Amino acid sequence: MALEEYKRKRDFGKTSEPEGAVKDTGKSVYVIQKHQASHLHWDLRLEFDGVLKSWAVPKEPPVKEGEKRLAVETEDHPIDYASFQGQIPEGEYGAGKVEIWDKGNFKLIERTADKILIEINGKRLSGQYYLVKFPKIGPKNWLFFKKKT
Ligand code: MN
Repeated sequence: MALEEYKRKRDFGKTSEPEGAVKDTGKSVYVIQKHQASHLHWDLRLEFDGVLKSWAVPKEPPVKEGEKRLAVETEDHPIDYASFQGQIPEGEYGAGKVEIWDKGNFKLIERTADKILIEINGKRLSGQYYLVKFPKIGPKNWLFFKKKT
């Protein structure tokens, strides 16, 4: 998907978000940003194919087994976004405060078109996690949960 949608939605003269570019870090970056926009949500981002694949999670992300969260696919973000924190100004896309809620990296275990299994190595989230497509309620909907051990 690259970054066209990300760039189209933002005015980099007004927001301090990074313009960024597609690049591979080789580190499998993982980050969750708490985003106090019109609705509070958490943005889960995982490095794949030189960008951060992104999902908006409307409730606090699952720290333990048995908690399932809706995760709505959003536009790819640049890798540089992983270190972004700050205030997106009023009137701009996603206006509100962004802070890093968790950060680290992940190991890919399995990835198909409708399922991703990863081992997350963060501070709040750690262990194996599933992202599984949940098209029943819409094409961009996934479920995000910790694998039962
Ligand atoms: Mn967001």
